[in-house]
Amino acid sequence: MKPTPSGIWPRAKYVAALALIVAAAAIAQTAPQILQAPNPPNAAAQQEKPYVVLVSLDGFRYDYVTKYSAPNITALAHRGATAPAGMIPSYPSLTFPNHYAIVSGLYPEDSGLVNNRFYDPARGQHYVFTSKDSDDGSWYSGVPLWSLAEQNQMRAACFFWPTSGAEIAGKRPSYYLEYSATVPNDERVAQVLQWLQLPPAERPHFLTLYMSDVDHAGHDHGPDSPEVAEAVKVVDGEIGKLVAGIDALHMRVDVIVLADHGMAKVDGGWINLDQWADLSDFVTDGSLLYGKSEADAEKAYESLKSASPKFHAYRRADVPAALHYNANPREGDPVIVPTGPYLIRAHAPVLQPGQTERPPLVGEHGYDPRAMPEMKALFVAEGPDIRTGADVQPFENVDVYPFIAQILGLPVGKIDGTAKPLEAILTRQKPE
Ligand code: AMP
Ligand code: ZN
Ligand code: ZN
Repeated sequence: MKPTPSGIWPRAKYVAALALIVAAAAIAQTAPQILQAPNPPNAAAQQEKPYVVLVSLDGFRYDYVTKYSAPNITALAHRGATAPAGMIPSYPSLTFPNHYAIVSGLYPEDSGLVNNRFYDPARGQHYVFTSKDSDDGSWYSGVPLWSLAEQNQMRAACFFWPTSGAEIAGKRPSYYLEYSATVPNDERVAQVLQWLQLPPAERPHFLTLYMSDVDHAGHDHGPDSPEVAEAVKVVDGEIGKLVAGIDALHMRVDVIVLADHGMAKVDGGWINLDQWADLSDFVTDGSLLYGKSEADAEKAYESLKSASPKFHAYRRADVPAALHYNANPREGDPVIVPTGPYLIRAHAPVLQPGQTERPPLVGEHGYDPRAMPEMKALFVAEGPDIRTGADVQPFENVDVYPFIAQILGLPVGKIDGTAKPLEAILTRQKPE
């Protein structure tokens, strides 16, 4: 090291010490607090069951594994099973509806989580995913896997998962956290590994882990950007640490790494629906339209049905059956379905004097996965209950629920998903 003129060191040391104190204070402040639900310990029979770690890499498109470098996820897929052409998200391919579809086995219209934000005409209230609404279980139907486990005296833990802070079907996970995007991924992985080392009666058998880096990079820079390549590398490194940590435990742990949806490069700027239809009597939320009467809905439909090649407008009951989006009043009426990667909303926001609108995102999702393959998501599963080298054809994400329930030996109630598509990748369940 080059000698430094005397007099600089003390100041440099002071600055360094101050920086350390500030950093330590910041860490202490953001140290995630683990919340505990007063659930009973694992029943004796449940302690004999395997463990499932369900990891969501938000916005990890199915082809990123080959498009970019993800050596750990690739190795995991070789050791286990994967869907090379992706897993099909539920419509709309947004974060909250799909995380909940994966853990509830219900399409968004049946779970009630029809969008990241929506209006409920019966309640007269809006649901906003980034608000405390997401911790209010009265918005959701179904029994998420963690509640199913806890109902059967099997412990569950969530290091983040949209809706995991809510009491649903009478239960919360035994261990969970309030969402904070700033918790470093390393801490998330380390905590999951620690949970797996709790005494058997307290140790969760169903665990979730969530990372958002790839989604953020995709929105800000688009799916073809070096920033997405870097984010893929980062989360892949975390999967490497998770798998190495699990291997070292020599336990019966199955790891499932998947995503809620993919990502597409946005084409063009905002499209405001109110340029074609008089929506002044409508409650709106994003592109969702809620008329006060049947006549309102029909009039808006007539104005919008041939307005633009960039979207289809349907009366709600006429939305194509494959979208499973035609029966819940929270979906609004008429329903607007984009035909490509377009940004559609009811109105431009009302800006204060001097305010300018934020530029549109570069990447977006939410679109029909059958019309846009870029919406399809990553799926990899590996572990003692998964066949090695088994590939599966694209399947719907509501089918993950019965797959995990089967591994954990939990009873499945009425859901939309079926066990069939993923049966082929399961090894025969060992009689215990
Ligand atoms: P979007 O891409 O708009 O569908 O939503 C993704 C965003 O949801 C990410 O930026 C996450 O930070 C955020 N997010 C993920 N989980 C939660 C949660 N449990 N509560 C609130 N926001 C979340
Ligand atoms: Zn997402
Ligand atoms: Zn997103």
